[in-house]
Amino acid sequence: MKKIILAESSGFCFGVKRAVDTAISIQKRYNKKIYTLGPLIHNNDVVKYLEENNIYSMNIDDIALLEQGEVIIIRSHGIAPEVLEKLKDKQLEIIDATCPFVSKIQQKVKKYYELGYEIVIVGDKDHPEVIGINGFCNNQAVISKNGENLENIKDKVCVVSQTTEKQENFQNVLSILTKMSKEILSFNTICSATEVRQKNADELSKDVDLMVIIGGKHSSNTTKLYEICKRNCYNTIHVENSGEIPDELYKYDKNMKIGVTAGASTPDWIIKEAIIKMGDEQNLQEMNDFIKLMDENDKKIYAGALVKGEIIQINEKEAFLNIGYKHDGILPVGEVTREADVKMTDLFKVGDEVEAKVIKLKNEDNYVVLSKVELERVSAFKLLREAFENKESIVVTVKEAVNGGLVANFKGIRVFIPASHVELFHVEDLDKYIGKEIQVKLIEFNEKKNTTRIVGSRRDLLKAEKEIKENSVWENLEKDQVVEGEVKRLTDFGAFIDISGVDGLLHVSEISWGRINKASDALKIGDKVKVYILEVDKENKKLSLSIKKLIGDPWESVDEKYPVGSVVLGKVVRFANFGAFVELEPGVDALVHISEISHKRIAKPSDVLAIGDEIKAKILDVKKDSKKIGLSIKEVEEEV
Ligand code: SF4
Repeated sequence: MKKIILAESSGFCFGVKRAVDTAISIQKRYNKKIYTLGPLIHNNDVVKYLEENNIYSMNIDDIALLEQGEVIIIRSHGIAPEVLEKLKDKQLEIIDATCPFVSKIQQKVKKYYELGYEIVIVGDKDHPEVIGINGFCNNQAVISKNGENLENIKDKVCVVSQTTEKQENFQNVLSILTKMSKEILSFNTICSATEVRQKNADELSKDVDLMVIIGGKHSSNTTKLYEICKRNCYNTIHVENSGEIPDELYKYDKNMKIGVTAGASTPDWIIKEAIIKMGDEQNLQEMNDFIKLMDENDKKIYAGALVKGEIIQINEKEAFLNIGYKHDGILPVGEVTREADVKMTDLFKVGDEVEAKVIKLKNEDNYVVLSKVELERVSAFKLLREAFENKESIVVTVKEAVNGGLVANFKGIRVFIPASHVELFHVEDLDKYIGKEIQVKLIEFNEKKNTTRIVGSRRDLLKAEKEIKENSVWENLEKDQVVEGEVKRLTDFGAFIDISGVDGLLHVSEISWGRINKASDALKIGDKVKVYILEVDKENKKLSLSIKKLIGDPWESVDEKYPVGSVVLGKVVRFANFGAFVELEPGVDALVHISEISHKRIAKPSDVLAIGDEIKAKILDVKKDSKKIGLSIKEVEEEV
């Protein structure tokens, strides 16, 4: 059975496809005659097709005929700087479709020429790409196809190659230069598209009975393919289109193996026609599969598809992208950011690669409308869904305070935070959160067809954080430790002390050895205090504290401090029928029996004393164990 095999890599390369696509989309945008500086590609059928679409090739000498503002496209081969100057002088609208690979060579040549290197270009001296590159070194390059012109070369050379040159030619030139020059800087700039195409053609041509090379007769890369294949397969032909394939070469041998490849300037439809012409009923299925594959690219573009493209033109409001489709993409600035007053030119530049989502297959000008905002929304929704399912936190930016909570934004998607979920406590003024980034946990992700309700909680995160912190504090708290804390709350029965986030109770009886009625008599909120841990109940999270314990029991040393017979100062703190109690120091009250108050006869202590009176008295006796001290005021008073 006859077999037709298409080389893996054949036809339009990236640079040529980009130039042709650019020309077609630019023409549609301007809707008038536009020009290319030299034919975009060396293929008569494509040139004809372009002319039918109002795209014409012209020579640099004809530029004078153009009017100011007319559109001219620089093809993938690129041009010399002096030619670009001419176009600018003429004030034409210049669209640069120079292949990025060629631009890189131009920049290398410029750099090393300025650094004093002699430039050697391996390639055809008359090829437009080589002529353009030579312009970047003041047209001083030595051009050698296969080792010629290298006689008077300098000691310091920089070697580059025409992108479509044969590998062996580049190697030949390099080996000659190695013997001649002291310093060689070599850049193998043969484009991999060319290299891969040549390699595939080389392999395929070894295995077939007929090898058909399709491409323009003036196309150097097609001619090279022909030369390579001819060495392996005597029966190799070079045709521009299917019409040039002689019937007798393939018609009568039913078991023939035919290889097909095509130059970088050959469009898919010419290759398709050639395959269909040579195929027969038996391999129709195979052909259909191949044709289907070629149409695949078109099918990839649909509303909702994700595409990548390179920016070929840009203004303040929009960017135009080559997305490898029959129509270019348009990306309005409003589809990049929802922020006002942003210029597209501040965000992107020509040559940038951009990924976006197709939101409309065709606008009124036949552009595919793209959106980055929508692309980000898709991935943001995915992130939100995952965060909800995995119970992970996300960072949102608060945009506004509304009735009942905060409205925040996560990559363009609305997240609502109810007021009760903002803090661990009630918040009066929600406005203070506007513009702030806060971390939230998603507590609701309700996906519906038209709206999705997403609710976040900061409180839940704070609560969890607090719990973790508290647990670690509880871990480290032990009975009999002395720790520092802050008075948080005061009650009748004591004070609550915050110890690194954990609350402990300081009972009123544990504040002082002295008599205190309520905690606020000795403490106020915010006071920093040192406390002794009396008890830790880790299970029930209860902590009992004492300040008193730190001071020590004043009764322990009353013997030394208040020896019998000594005279002390004290304050009257309360009365009884039998006498007055006098505080010698906090926690140490002594009794002045009524008979010891005065030399005069009194009915009750308050006849001569008042609460708060500072008195001088003599120690009559000290009973440490029963915590009793007897005083006499009259013994230090003169008898009247
Ligand atoms: S062959 Fe390579 S360098 Fe030349 S235009 Fe194509 S992609 Fe660009």
